[in-house]
Amino acid sequence: MSVDPKPDELLSSWLHRLAIANGLAPRSFAGVLGRGNGMWSPRLDLRLLPHVAALLSEQTGVPHEAISALAMTGCALTPLLLPLRENARRNRSTWMQYCPLCLAGDDAPYFRRPWRLATRISCFVHGCGLRDRCPACRSGVAAFDQDELVAQHFCARCGFDLGRASKVSVKAPARRLERSIDDICKVEMAKGLMIGDLTSRLLRTPVVAGVSLGKTLTILSTSSRIRCFEWLADKHVSWLTADEDDAVARRRRLLLAAGGHDRLIAHFADFMDKHQGSPRPMRSSSPSADLGALLEAYSRATDGRGIRTKRPRIGAVRRG
Ligand SMILES: [Zn+2]
Ligand SMILES: [Zn+2]
Repeated sequence: MSVDPKPDELLSSWLHRLAIANGLAPRSFAGVLGRGNGMWSPRLDLRLLPHVAALLSEQTGVPHEAISALAMTGCALTPLLLPLRENARRNRSTWMQYCPLCLAGDDAPYFRRPWRLATRISCFVHGCGLRDRCPACRSGVAAFDQDELVAQHFCARCGFDLGRASKVSVKAPARRLERSIDDICKVEMAKGLMIGDLTSRLLRTPVVAGVSLGKTLTILSTSSRIRCFEWLADKHVSWLTADEDDAVARRRRLLLAAGGHDRLIAHFADFMDKHQGSPRPMRSSSPSADLGALLEAYSRATDGRGIRTKRPRIGAVRRG
């Protein structure tokens, strides 16, 4: 029996759903695919073996490319992925985060690819903080180890429904910072830039924030990373822009000041409204718009006037 992948679904999540739909517990399904024990499916997320992909495609009818797209093999953001860890130690990261409201709202609850990133702390749909543990038994998500026919949103250790976990709040400036970082990564990857330096800066944020001296972002629990982002959101952005190429630094400052590209495009449209008189087409921020070109144009048009790099109010940018 086949199961269609959901939008943004992670390979392991799809594999667990596929197993259950075929009457097999995820732990037994590992054997069917010739995998060992433990974190067999999260390991496939990181490195999808060609013969496993071929077998899955043959058995499910889902195209090979669609299956490969679920994995995170060779992703430029790999350094930002939460490390695979079977046991959840206090204050340490677990391998997977989740939004309880997303799981509760799904007709077939599934885990999203962006939840694997250490730079993600909240849900962009619901605005609440992500969680990385079962609130009842404090274990991390262990659906790969489930030995009964139980859907993956139930804790594999105690059976708690993760969709019923209470809401975690994250302050708005921290969520804006998170969104800006996400957009900066996307823009720089889309422009074909090397993002090794960017990911190193992001990994060092706990040191910059003084949250946990000497620790990298990926080893911290979600609640520690939320504290880290809340602290950073109030600080000057030089930690992400110093010693960078001018164009890169300017683009990062603009995205940080605006709180992500959606807001930036809205500012740009307002600016055009006010100064150039041909704003209408800009209003609908078409996904095919070349964001890089737009940013450069905006930057040139405003010449930095009125752009505050530190937590501006929207009006502050508009006045430029
Ligand atoms: Zn959500
Ligand atoms: Zn539990």
